[in-house]
Amino acid sequence: MPRYDYLIVGSGLFGSVFAHEATRRGKKCLLIDKRNHAGGNIYCEKVEEINVHKYGAHIFHTNDKAVWDFVNSFVEFNRYTNSPVAEYKGKRYNLPFNMNTFYQLWGVKTPKEAKDKLATEIGLARVEKPVNLEQQALSLVGKDIYEKLIKGYTEKQWGRPATELPAFIIKRLPVRFTYDNNYFNDRYQGIPIGGYNKLTDGLLEGCEVQLNTDYFSDRGKWDNAADCVVFTGHIDQYYDYQFGQLEYRSLKFEHQILNTDNHQGNAVVNYTERDVPYTRTIEHKHFEFGTQAKTVVTKEYPDEWTTGKEAYYPVNDERNTRIYEKYKALSKQEEHVIFGGRLATYQYYDMHQIIASALKAANVHFAVEQIGNQI
Ligand code: FAD
Ligand code: UDP
Repeated sequence: MPRYDYLIVGSGLFGSVFAHEATRRGKKCLLIDKRNHAGGNIYCEKVEEINVHKYGAHIFHTNDKAVWDFVNSFVEFNRYTNSPVAEYKGKRYNLPFNMNTFYQLWGVKTPKEAKDKLATEIGLARVEKPVNLEQQALSLVGKDIYEKLIKGYTEKQWGRPATELPAFIIKRLPVRFTYDNNYFNDRYQGIPIGGYNKLTDGLLEGCEVQLNTDYFSDRGKWDNAADCVVFTGHIDQYYDYQFGQLEYRSLKFEHQILNTDNHQGNAVVNYTERDVPYTRTIEHKHFEFGTQAKTVVTKEYPDEWTTGKEAYYPVNDERNTRIYEKYKALSKQEEHVIFGGRLATYQYYDMHQIIASALKAANVHFAVEQIGNQI
């Protein structure tokens, strides 16, 4: 077994960005992934010439110019702007919550009318200090929007009452008083032209990659393969679940090829009623303004997570946070292991945040190394 400078466990964005940063500094890296492809959850599969987001819709957005310039140095991004439509009991509403939504719900036309109506709705909810997702939503948008567009979606997505979920999840969604359906407030947004695999391929150029390889299948061997390990897998598994197992939400995807060039007229349609078993339908071609003859549509079903299923979302409630803090304390004592990414830090991070954190981890790590070399 050759010696490597770095063994990187997981080829998602954290692992791939770190691999790129190490490789360009002349380090010898081996990146392993238990899946049969690189890229982690941003991986796309070509079906009918359409890039299908295999692990759920991914829209890149950021306010960070350095991160935007970084990703654009590997692949050019298009001008896609995410504007999901929500369906509740047969009626359609624009998202995020904006003047279009307020008009569709209440017939209000001016920002003042909308603000007055929202103030009344929020007042009726009587929440003083929001401590959970339900209270946070009620204090942001009031009862009507909460019941039609949030409660059902949230409770099926997370598989538990909104009163047991952390407030921060709902703060992701903007509320604005302009007729603007852009789901994000960020300055930069788009989809890589030609798909996300181009980004992964660019990041991993020059790095040795071994797929279908689980770190835990032979941990001793992998630890001995390199001087330093970059670990982006499950942190609780890394520590043999000694403080208990962390919980996740999983998803099931039902992909369908349809014999039409345009099925739903939008990339993302959310179904906010509890009784519709899926949360959203994705028509992938619209991410890249596709003109193919056929289309691929994916229904996204929330799923209870158990060992062996894909862990998509950390459940950052009190119990899991307490457990995670214990693992984190252990991870801080490691001298030759860097932990990063959604699974190893148990955080609900978007792509730009993962990239920023990987760049920062690499910069700090190599700066410390340089100081060490000078002493
Ligand atoms: P991952 O992509 O999960 O990669 C981890 C990799 O490690 C995987 O390939 C896994 O197979 C591998 N691995 C794990 N354990 C082991 C092991 N023991 N041995 C070997 N390999 C292992 N972000 C956005 O910015 N915009 C969006 O629109 C967006 N939409 C999303 C939609 C969904 C449904 C989900 C789940 C996430 C979404 N995200 C979005 C978040 C985005 O996916 C993440 O921020 C990012 O991809 C995380 O990268 P990562 O490297 O942390 O983890
Ligand atoms: N959400 C909702 N209704 C919607 C869309 C989102 O209530 O139509 C809530 C839900 O709790 C979800 C959270 O907002 O988990 C964050 O939504 P986002 O679209 O950012 O979710 P992601 O793409 O990360 O799954």
